[in-house]
Amino acid sequence: MLPYATVNEAETAIGRSLTAAETLWFNYTANISDYILYCHNILFLFLIFTIVPLFYVFIELILRDYVAAYKIQPKVKFSLYHHFKCYSRVMRMFILVVGPLQLVSYPSIQMIGVRTSLPLPSLMEIISQLIVYFLIEDYTNYWIHRLFHSKWGYEKIHKVHHEYTAPIGFAAPYAHWIEVLILGIPSFLGPAIVPGHMITFWLWIALRQIEAIETHSGYDFPWTLTKYIPFYGGADYHDYHHYVGGQSQSNFASVFTYCDYIYGTDKGYRYQKRLLQQLRDGSRGDGGSYAAGPDIKLE
Ligand SMILES: [Zn+2]
Ligand SMILES: [Zn+2]
Repeated sequence: MLPYATVNEAETAIGRSLTAAETLWFNYTANISDYILYCHNILFLFLIFTIVPLFYVFIELILRDYVAAYKIQPKVKFSLYHHFKCYSRVMRMFILVVGPLQLVSYPSIQMIGVRTSLPLPSLMEIISQLIVYFLIEDYTNYWIHRLFHSKWGYEKIHKVHHEYTAPIGFAAPYAHWIEVLILGIPSFLGPAIVPGHMITFWLWIALRQIEAIETHSGYDFPWTLTKYIPFYGGADYHDYHHYVGGQSQSNFASVFTYCDYIYGTDKGYRYQKRLLQQLRDGSRGDGGSYAAGPDIKLE
């Protein structure tokens, strides 16, 4: 909650007029506690987990023929029921783990110093902090994910996330509850090291989840803006990790490709890509997917 009773008081305190965005923030947060502002994340996550994957369900079920060329595992077909089943599993996890975690983790946000005050951060500050958060999360997530692929970690925890050998958007947050809790740590690490404004924190949580849904979508569209981000992994990159499953010692990184390159865990993927290119050059015409084989229909 802001420590100013009026806009004038706020303007005197920061020594200038409020921008339109700051006036909006002042009016919106005037009577809302910082705890409730933090808990907005529950609503944002619910909306993201529900709405963003629907885009991919729509193209999977309605535009299937038009987007077939971009489906990464074209032999695997999902029914509406299959998508809904995955969504209901995610929502159960959301109600039992993600939501309660948000409700009780507010003290950590207070401790690291995420602020709700004025002035609002500049666009440059928001973007630079988001880049730092993504880099820190990507690096720590890489190592935790690698540990999950140890025999014990995979069998006891991580194999739940790998139930989807051909991932779908709804399956992005689908994992064992212990994995959900542990992977919350890399997400908090960036804001803990470089604390920013609550708006930056909201954006960070939202963008990271949208990114995860895109990489689990099962579609690799050439026109996505993320193609312009240097070292960005994307859907094809993470899809391969699911395709090879428990045996996988490849493509551990959640966002970028540099960790797998540095630590040599992208060799299988690179080899497959080279092989497919050779097959295409030799006009075998298998659609360019590493997932050649019989059609699989999932009801
Ligand atoms: Zn994995
Ligand atoms: Zn995954």
